[in-house]
Amino acid sequence: MGPEDGRVIIVSNRLPVSTSVLGDGWIVLQRSSGGLVNGLEEVHQSGRSLWMGCLAGQTGSSKLKVADSDLADLKEQGLRIVDVPPDLYESYYEGFSNGAIWPLFHYMPDRCHFSPSEWEAYEQVNQLFADAIISEVQDNDIVWVQDYQLMLLPNMLRRMKRDLSIGFFLHIPFPSADMFRVLPWRNEILSGVLGSDLVGFHTLEYMRHFSNSTARVLGLEPHMDSLNYGERLVRMGAFPLGIDVKAMHSEARLPETEEQIEALDANYKGKKVILGVDRLDYTKGIPPRLEAFSALLEKHPDLVGKVSFIQVSVPSRVKVDEYRDLKAEVDGLVGMINGRFGAPGYVPIHYLFQTLTRDHLLALYRRADVAVVTPIRDGLNLVCKEYVASKGEDPGALVLSEFAGSAAEMGEAILVNPWSPDSMAAGMHKALSMSDEKKSQMMSDLWDRLALHDNRAWSTGFLDTLAETRRRNTLSVDVQTLDPDPGELVDRLSNARHAHFFIDYDGTLVAVAEKPELATPTPEVIELLKDMAGIQNFRISVVSGRDRRFLEEFLPHDVTLIAEHGACIRRAGDQECEHMVDDSHFKDLWDNVLRVMTDFEKRIPGSRIERKEFGVVWHYRMAEPIFAQEQARELADALGGLLQRTPLGVTTAKKAVEVRHIGINKGEAVRFILQEDGFDPKADMLITMGDDRTDEDMFKVYTKDNVSIAVSDTPMSSAAYMIDQPHVLPLLEALTRSAKGWQYKLWDLQAS
Ligand code: UDP
Repeated sequence: MGPEDGRVIIVSNRLPVSTSVLGDGWIVLQRSSGGLVNGLEEVHQSGRSLWMGCLAGQTGSSKLKVADSDLADLKEQGLRIVDVPPDLYESYYEGFSNGAIWPLFHYMPDRCHFSPSEWEAYEQVNQLFADAIISEVQDNDIVWVQDYQLMLLPNMLRRMKRDLSIGFFLHIPFPSADMFRVLPWRNEILSGVLGSDLVGFHTLEYMRHFSNSTARVLGLEPHMDSLNYGERLVRMGAFPLGIDVKAMHSEARLPETEEQIEALDANYKGKKVILGVDRLDYTKGIPPRLEAFSALLEKHPDLVGKVSFIQVSVPSRVKVDEYRDLKAEVDGLVGMINGRFGAPGYVPIHYLFQTLTRDHLLALYRRADVAVVTPIRDGLNLVCKEYVASKGEDPGALVLSEFAGSAAEMGEAILVNPWSPDSMAAGMHKALSMSDEKKSQMMSDLWDRLALHDNRAWSTGFLDTLAETRRRNTLSVDVQTLDPDPGELVDRLSNARHAHFFIDYDGTLVAVAEKPELATPTPEVIELLKDMAGIQNFRISVVSGRDRRFLEEFLPHDVTLIAEHGACIRRAGDQECEHMVDDSHFKDLWDNVLRVMTDFEKRIPGSRIERKEFGVVWHYRMAEPIFAQEQARELADALGGLLQRTPLGVTTAKKAVEVRHIGINKGEAVRFILQEDGFDPKADMLITMGDDRTDEDMFKVYTKDNVSIAVSDTPMSSAAYMIDQPHVLPLLEALTRSAKGWQYKLWDLQAS
């Protein structure tokens, strides 16, 4: 981050404050710690930051009371409460966040419930966060949104303050595109996140899944670690959350921890200790792990009496039925295994259903010969990192699930498949059989890596990349983009000699359809165009990449048609089309282009060739998006080679690779018509509207005097104004109605 950057506003569902509720409804606040908190504490302590979120005690049906002095303390510490009504919070948090996103993103669609009312609550709470942030934010501030509860927030903020620097970090896995597609609100969630400048994940795998989902669900064309969302660049990156290994190493050697270790040594004298520490959650794979321990004892009876398993389960969401069932399942398994393998003086599994004190936890890490961390899915997992940090160079062995995000950076551990009890039992056996020397080596190798990617590396890595992306976006986008003000436009129109409208067809006048042939104009569009054409000082052109035949068939005769990006122009009222290129000498070249494209059409199912009068397009909207995108690059390369030093050129846009004449573009067509019509920027008005990259050429004609309007729901264009597609017709209708009004007035005046 540079000195020009403002404060960092950290936003998380909850503030780093724990709450205890007193009988009379008042709550006592206390700063809390934990993985995320420790990761962000560094940023927050720097003194140039605010932290915004809800208070944990806000669940439940009645609002809790916080003393004024506590509120003042929070403010002093740079903490701001986002106030959410308790019932709404319940639906947003327990409902949508933990009932739909959490299980789906952990690959458990059977556990999901998708409720429209909970989705609405999710939207509403994200909007409450957005409103609260906008009321706090100052110029140059950076907003850093945390986690799956707030995935709509980035785009909500982007729409409210377009030049804001926004980062988003996901702390849970991002599932494969096939799993993600199950979510009924998948488009909204993706567009929500894409309001950010930078999207961070714990692993490259999650990043790839996200990137593939944008291709599959939104039809975007991502690159390796970035994607263009309109004119804006969204970067993606892997930033695994780290811990302060050095601090933890020292803390694990404080006298009070040493005392606890002595007590443990006395209890587990002569025994090997295997340790598991988890929140009691169905993603953590506690039952299969206990079954694997049972399998280990069964397969290696010599270990019975010599190995103890300590399983710590931290109570979590105890009021939810699913979690109660899980607790009952674990209780039952522990009883069964202890009953089967136990003996006087030997309890195989010591089960602690409680939150431990810090020194107790660190003592367990240090005393454990083996740590077994085997979640079925886990975004990252900090327990395995804390185990290594506590051990330092002391001997220790880590058995780690391949499905924990940390496995991507902790390859020296014994990696196991948590779905296979045999694999886990074999992993535990291998760990128990390792020599002390090998165990020390494993710990110190892992320690070195964790020291390099610690908590500071995580936050600075993310914030530096965000600042860099932001600088690039500020250079490439006019961040002043505004909604067009109909009143102001009417004012200008009423003073203009002529108003020249250039309106793109697909995505502007009509919504984009799955199949282009279905995107025919509605009766309202035709009526509007006729109305506009009837106004004396209006000059209407519809601009399109489509060919003349389609436009002539469906659009009124009294508007000008600019077809094939300007290769062919039919003026309002004319029968004939004016060709802007002479194509007669290039038959062989076009044959070669077609030959290459036909080869791709045959090989890529779902793709198809469209032949226009002056161009050929290979469309792959309906083909498998990721493979087809690769193929599109190859095709563009092949055609680029073929067309070198010819008047034809290749362009790629909107799921298509197109060959057309160089020099033909919508901007040139607009210039041509304006020149023919004697356009004078002082007396006349120019209005251009479009949604596609090819429309940017129109926006650049007479830039200063051009009322250029990008049709988009996210700021991403060089246009001066921006509007949603559903608002295009109402805007044009409003302008037309007003213009008709002046004409009546004119007639009235003339008549009197
Ligand atoms: N932990 C704790 N009290 C306990 C046991 C564990 O605060 O009694 C902490 C542990 O130190 C670790 C966190 O809980 O930092 C668990 O984080 P992890 O990423 O492993 O899993 P999560 O619970 O976030 O899914």
